Amino acid sequence: MPLMSHLEELKEFLSQPRRIVITSHTNPDGDAMGSSLALYNYLLPLGHKVSVIVPSNYPDFLKWMPGDQKVYIYPYQVTESQRLIGEAELIFCLDYNALSRIGDVGTHVAANPCPKVLIDHHLFPEDFARYVLHLVEASSTAELVYEFLEQLGAADKVTTDIATCLYVGILTDTGGFQYPNTSARVHRIVAHLMDAGIDHNKIYRDVFNSFNEMRLRLFGYSITEKLKIYPDYKAAMISLNKEELQRFQVRSGDTEGIVNYPLKIQGINFAAFIVDRTEAIKLSFRSVGQFDVNQFSRKYFNGGGHINAAGGISKDTLEQTIAKFEQVLPEFKDQLHY
Ligand code: 5GP
Ligand code: MN
Repeated sequence: MPLMSHLEELKEFLSQPRRIVITSHTNPDGDAMGSSLALYNYLLPLGHKVSVIVPSNYPDFLKWMPGDQKVYIYPYQVTESQRLIGEAELIFCLDYNALSRIGDVGTHVAANPCPKVLIDHHLFPEDFARYVLHLVEASSTAELVYEFLEQLGAADKVTTDIATCLYVGILTDTGGFQYPNTSARVHRIVAHLMDAGIDHNKIYRDVFNSFNEMRLRLFGYSITEKLKIYPDYKAAMISLNKEELQRFQVRSGDTEGIVNYPLKIQGINFAAFIVDRTEAIKLSFRSVGQFDVNQFSRKYFNGGGHINAAGGISKDTLEQTIAKFEQVLPEFKDQLHY
């Protein structure tokens, strides 16, 4: 495990009360919110003024973690968020590594010359932070936040609240401890989180088993009616248009997880989920094994992420985006056969 760069300097900086802003990526997921709120719950009792600011709204199944009520959702609190970012003495950048990933928030973060702290596990980090803890092999940013706390000598200060947030990050980014990066170290950290008093059964249910009826029906519909298989490429795709989103009264986060279902089919190595969010077409990619969806997404859909999980964006129509996806698939035929 690498050390946070300039760790001693950062420790010294944090030895006085500071105005701190914690940011994470657009469409925050469990790791983004879990990491941010874990750090928030650690820093606040030390006397710092801490604000978590995210660039967009996030799913209800994440809106219960300790400190959630205090989160600033930038588009809903623009002026206040801008003021906090402008006045910050230190800005944490969690679970992303390019300022373009945080939309307009990035402009304001970049405009403040204060030092930034990057804690992240995505590929190809940009060079904008003074303090960096970056490890692609990490299961989650939450795992790295735990490492950071340990490097600060604060492992024994992990309260139940902090542990709960970290557990959400690890649980969601490992897909429930299934992905290859779920190391022995991750399990040791989780053991410590359990010792700190988390209710892992309740957390699991709150995050994964808190659907409303329409959301479950949307999943069923997506699988029975919308799943398209490309046997020549060991690939599958599910798309949802605006009308379908309306019919199922889809709210932010309701489609989270659909992309994983095609990978339950033996022999499918690559799954795509394409959805018409009004602002743009959003794509999610997942793979099993060696197929690099990060590269795929970077090349054709202005995106990025990890080897086995990435996302992207398209300004074309849904139909054009699906057509493009199908057009580029053959280029990867050899890479998808294993
Ligand atoms: P999801 O499909 O769950 O939205 O995202 C999967 C992974 O890809 C996450 O690690 C996320 O941070 C990353 N990701 C999602 N969308 C984008 C995007 O538009 N650009 C980049 N660079 N990464 C993305
Ligand atoms: Mn993550």
